[in-house]
Amino acid sequence: MNALVEARALVVRFGLGPGRRLTAVDGVDLAVPRHATLALVGESGSGKSTLGLTLLRVHRPAAGRVLFDGVDITDWDERRLRALRPRMQMVLQDPYASLDPHVTVGEALAEPLRACRGLGRAAARERAVELLESVGLPGSTAGRRPHLLSGGQRQRAGIARALALEPELLIADEPVSALDVSTRAQVVALLDELRRRHRLTVLLIAHDLALAGQVSDRVAVMYVGQVVEEGPAPDLIRLPQHPYTVALLSATPDPDPRIERTRPRITLRGEPPSALRPPSGCRFHPRCPIARDVCAVSPPPLREVRTGHRAACHFAGELESPVTPTRIWGG
Ligand code: SF4
Repeated sequence: MNALVEARALVVRFGLGPGRRLTAVDGVDLAVPRHATLALVGESGSGKSTLGLTLLRVHRPAAGRVLFDGVDITDWDERRLRALRPRMQMVLQDPYASLDPHVTVGEALAEPLRACRGLGRAAARERAVELLESVGLPGSTAGRRPHLLSGGQRQRAGIARALALEPELLIADEPVSALDVSTRAQVVALLDELRRRHRLTVLLIAHDLALAGQVSDRVAVMYVGQVVEEGPAPDLIRLPQHPYTVALLSATPDPDPRIERTRPRITLRGEPPSALRPPSGCRFHPRCPIARDVCAVSPPPLREVRTGHRAACHFAGELESPVTPTRIWGG
């Protein structure tokens, strides 16, 4: 695989006071293919945002490597990273965080163009209007303050700002979770269209597996700091190999009300465990409906179970295929 950005055996820890350390990312191997979208999916606290920020080298890993465009940037200092930053940009869940409420949207977009590209005031303003139009906003949005825009318009403006420096990598961290349902699909479709138009590489961090799967080439599922399944999106959605992925898929409502009424659902026991004290063996075993004795003592490796499709479950590939909620849990 020709990857633009790669995590190798990545570990990220945070100190929480004397003797308390949280391992937010624990031994992740993941490659984001060039000019493609990889969706990183999981519940809150699974470590997906921390992994995204570490790939951008906002966080420094405790162990493992981060490679960007084939170059090991794990130990780069801030001066070297500053020169690299225009090539990697982030779209945040809350676009207010990237759009200064005290300046107009046009000024917010023009600022990096002046600072990093050396454009004059008029040229930067003109380019800001072009960027807004490229994300489906009228050029007149440039003269407005962020608080006067709807949530969807603000997120489009946030995406335009992320594109201002023509990055190669875009990390979109829950870009639609603050939006209403009808706007979500539009913004996700826009990200997909921009990826094709600008030949971007996108890491889409999300918790809606079905929505992310629709616009992604590959999907990685995280659970308590580890990737438990990763593979081509259509394959992973149609033939999930890890019981946690099956459970996430089961939580997605079916658009057909007749199927929705009768389809089997999986309700997982309890809450995800804390990364401060992850369970022994397979971290999913206390909630897994098909756990056996071995699961509590032996951590399953992330291994290839189908071509280009990896899963960390002792029984992945042995379960009936396709692995549907009905097949596993007999619903
Ligand atoms: Fe469930 Fe065991 Fe597979 Fe973990 S290894 S997902 S506990 S069956």
